[in-house]
Amino acid sequence: RSYGTAATFRAADTIIKKTQHGNRKPDSDKLVFGANYSDHMLTIKHTTASGWEKPVIEPLKPLEIHPGAKVLHYATEIFEGLKAYRGNDGKIRLFRPELNMNRMLTSAERSVLPTFDGQELLECIKKLVHLDADWVPKSTSSTLYIRPTLIGTEPTLGVAAPNESLLFVVTGPVGPYFPTGFKPISLLADNFHCRAFPGGVGAYKAGSNYGPTIYVNKLANAQGCQQVLWLYGEKKLVTEVGTMNVFMYLKNKKGDNELITPPLNGLILPGVTRQSVLDLARTWTDLTVSEREITMDELMEAHQENRLMEMFGAGTACIVCPVERIVYNGKTHNLATMNNGAPLTVRFHDTLVDIQFGRKPSTWTVEV
Ligand code: PMP
Repeated sequence: RSYGTAATFRAADTIIKKTQHGNRKPDSDKLVFGANYSDHMLTIKHTTASGWEKPVIEPLKPLEIHPGAKVLHYATEIFEGLKAYRGNDGKIRLFRPELNMNRMLTSAERSVLPTFDGQELLECIKKLVHLDADWVPKSTSSTLYIRPTLIGTEPTLGVAAPNESLLFVVTGPVGPYFPTGFKPISLLADNFHCRAFPGGVGAYKAGSNYGPTIYVNKLANAQGCQQVLWLYGEKKLVTEVGTMNVFMYLKNKKGDNELITPPLNGLILPGVTRQSVLDLARTWTDLTVSEREITMDELMEAHQENRLMEMFGAGTACIVCPVERIVYNGKTHNLATMNNGAPLTVRFHDTLVDIQFGRKPSTWTVEV
């Protein structure tokens, strides 16, 4: 892509207004996800008439939005989620952030929000994290969560592309997903609701995909499950777990050890963790890696024939999250995942964490 002057902002133009009094940092053992924010935020305004304004890094403050802003009525909003990790060497690293930038651009295009040069946003984010470096936990398990967001702010109620938009990035420290070691989760395989459908927007990180899932998650909670196993269609295709991609490791009918994740067929968010699990697995020689459709029937058959070895979710929040139980059609199925300590899930976890915290050198990390 090439970008004209107003078709992208430039990180080099960033105006930085430092806070006079930084906020107190929360205790690192009391970090509720998304409840704490660092001192500064990044904002970049866009209008169709003049393109992008200069990026501004300034003290975190509430946004002023007209009540007619399109985002408040039609959910003209897309977002991203990534983390900064502080290594034992004191260096702060991002993990494959260019994948997040590319996904953000894809989401923006689908929502008719303005696009930009992803490398420039990445440089802006590095400046923001650098300025709030003290907020990146000095820990081998806590991290700084980064939330880039893009909203349509034009105050007109027509369902149309916004002529005014705002890109902003907030960050905040988050604790380890598993403070006391792996905690396997239970899932409700919901037979009725679906998260995404062909031709829909499930492959994009649009806020409108998430709000409506909370209701279904409550139904899962009411059945004693933590999250939803999202199925699609008559064939009950397995698609995602909560807000994670899903992997199943089984002995297939040919006798091979096969690691399966559903393909990027429009029903699935292209996760950075998913891609990384696939990339790692393809360098490991002791398993077959498949991006292919898998139905509930096939999954349940493998489970009943004791061929399902491990099942896990994969996402930035938890890296990998083992699944120990599925409730499906009113029946509870206790999976074999944790029987031997989930060795494959643990292997992915440990390899990815070592890369993220800089203990294992990798081209996947970008220093801040
Ligand atoms: N699926 C959904 C629906 C998600 O919201 C996420 C979190 N972004 C993922 C999968 C995992 O993506 P990633 O590995 O990039 O965090």
